[in-house]
Amino acid sequence: MTSRYVGRFAPSPTGELHFGSLVAAVASYADAKSRNGSWLLRIDDIDQPRSVGGSSDSIIATLKAFGFQWDGPIRWQSEREHHYQTAIANLRNQSLAYPCRCSRRQIEKTARRGVEGLVYPGTCREWNGAGAEQVAIRMLTKNVQITATDRITGDIAQNLEADIGDFIIFRADGITAYQLAVVVDDFLDNVTHVVRGADLVLSTPRQIYLQNRLNYPIPQYAHVPLVRDAEGAKVSKRDDAHPIDQGEPLSALQAAWQFLKQPPMPEPIENLERFWTHAAKTWRIEALRDTDTQCSAEKIA
Ligand SMILES: [Zn+2]
Repeated sequence: MTSRYVGRFAPSPTGELHFGSLVAAVASYADAKSRNGSWLLRIDDIDQPRSVGGSSDSIIATLKAFGFQWDGPIRWQSEREHHYQTAIANLRNQSLAYPCRCSRRQIEKTARRGVEGLVYPGTCREWNGAGAEQVAIRMLTKNVQITATDRITGDIAQNLEADIGDFIIFRADGITAYQLAVVVDDFLDNVTHVVRGADLVLSTPRQIYLQNRLNYPIPQYAHVPLVRDAEGAKVSKRDDAHPIDQGEPLSALQAAWQFLKQPPMPEPIENLERFWTHAAKTWRIEALRDTDTQCSAEKIA
């Protein structure tokens, strides 16, 4: 029987699990468990050049040590290439995607900035792709207006053509782009609820657009605030500043719980099982609304 709630955590293997990822994992897991949902683990390893050897194993070991229990086998993006290709072919058959041979340098010369990077000026929209080998594939965003609803941040409205531009779904280096892969993955896994870091909030309208055109259901989204360092920069896996202490899973989990604005747990929480039982009982995603750590489009841009 399929459960009505299917959540997931989808780290990229680009380093150790850091505190910012732990926060996203805790939010996603607690949200799923509070609704008696299932929770999947997917390793987003499509971008092999960016992957760091050994980090998948390390992330999986850390999640286990912290008491996360995922349902079913671990999913790997690298095993799904044919599904991505099928989706891209579907979009091209609908004339919604087209090949682009522009170099980054060419685009930088003419493009203006949007809400997240350069807005591709549509140079190759009329090009038929003849004679080119290594080309990117872009998604046509002509007159596309999308409003994403979010359980934490509220509505995110974008005019995709003006704010983002025709975005890449397949890269010229032969790698499926994140935006396309994540949409296909969530569809294949029947994901109903996506709880993830706010660095992806501006991607959500693009993903909803792809879901619309591929005739996939749209999950409910929630973007949790990013953990920032003292200078206000997002803590990323490349930073050594916020490692999590694998020997002290309970205190790291409590710190994540506090960061997520959840009320303190009654002392003492002696073990992981009690932490997660209590987390499932008391989790309230609403506590994250209207906090000043909330991420807005302006702050990210
Ligand atoms: Zn182009």
